[in-house]
Amino acid sequence: NTPLHELDPDVAAAVDAELHRQQSTLEMIASENFAPVAVMEAQGSVLTNKYAEGYPGRRYYGGCEHVDVVEQIAIDRVKELFGAEHANVQPHSGAQANAAAMFALLKPGDTIMGLNLAHGGHLTHGMKINFSGKLYDVVAYHVDDATGQVDMAEVERLAKESRPKLIVAGWSAYPRQLDFAAFRRIADEVGAYLMVDMAHFAGLVAAGLHPNPVPHAHVVTTTTHKTLGGPRGGVILSTAELAKKINSAVFPGQQGGPLEHVIAGKAVAFKVAASEEFKDRQRRTLDGARILAERLVADDVREHGVSVLSGGTDVHLVLVDLRESELDGQQAEDRLHEVGITVNRNAVPNDPRPPMVTSGLRIGTPALATRGFTAEDFAEVADVIAEALKAPSPFGAADAAALRTRVTALAEKHPLYAGPAK
Ligand code: PLP
Repeated sequence: NTPLHELDPDVAAAVDAELHRQQSTLEMIASENFAPVAVMEAQGSVLTNKYAEGYPGRRYYGGCEHVDVVEQIAIDRVKELFGAEHANVQPHSGAQANAAAMFALLKPGDTIMGLNLAHGGHLTHGMKINFSGKLYDVVAYHVDDATGQVDMAEVERLAKESRPKLIVAGWSAYPRQLDFAAFRRIADEVGAYLMVDMAHFAGLVAAGLHPNPVPHAHVVTTTTHKTLGGPRGGVILSTAELAKKINSAVFPGQQGGPLEHVIAGKAVAFKVAASEEFKDRQRRTLDGARILAERLVADDVREHGVSVLSGGTDVHLVLVDLRESELDGQQAEDRLHEVGITVNRNAVPNDPRPPMVTSGLRIGTPALATRGFTAEDFAEVADVIAEALKAPSPFGAADAAALRTRVTALAEKHPLYAGPAK
């Protein structure tokens, strides 16, 4: 029972350095969050030792009486949270959840529709070299050039032309809400299943601040670590009718033993997600994104060729459009890194720059909201970002240092994992 610092100082040092990075910088990667200490405690528990192939009450291993309790709590809580008839909490990740859901509903060679990757879709929604693009025939839909919003007329036209077996609605980089009812109507017209991947916005849904896809979709997949703020992992929700197909697609179709320690973390996260404190956090997440979008469309920023896709946001992220700017996505990401703000560069629709450079940034507010940031704090963050993107090149050490001081003040105002636990 030697502690990590003694047994493996090399790994321990890297973990400590990562904790310091998280504490001293501002995390604005839209898909990241800070899991509560209780979630990490569950993940670091003895449940990591247990094999439990199967489902609660029907396992292929002995000694599952306690993990059965944990997994059933997770299932019951997530069904209640989203109003779902069925839940499978075993997928190891969002990509695994999507793979299993597709495996349940499709045969190789079937046609699927998903949002194009460069327009905000996810790899698992049909990208060429992902399993989804290799196994299925993919017809991608897009966002409209003028509005930056999903072109539902195109979705309808493509669905009627290609008669897909499954339509995926969901995104990794899109600043607006999707019309789930319209997607379902189109899916019904062509005899397709509707699968909504709510990985990004599940926390907003849980808080009642975003339309819930569950009443509209046959299947809803999600991750548990983005806006939901839990451990890294996936979940599949479905109608009762599809329950058996979904369960057997996860196990034995895709996975072996479930990660019961992670499932325990998911259960804790679902409890947190039903709380008033969580609602308040999601409200601040949305406020923060709106404040950031408003700052980045102001004249003094716009005159530097910087704008915001779709003109604003309804969710937890802002997509910065640098197509008209001298700065490319890589340079903008690097500048923000220098001032202590972590974001990721992101291709924009019809991006003229190569995929490793891009002409965009994806900036999200969930992690800072979890840290306790208020509207006033987000206004300060937004101003730091605006100043960094406006500054003339070359962006010198002195420019970075002045902004870094403001970032450090914000980080110190909202300490992270400050207690004795970590
Ligand atoms: N679905 C969407 C919409 C995502 O944005 C992501 C991750 O970025 C995933 C699925 C995959 O999740 P994971 O990284 O847990 O496999």
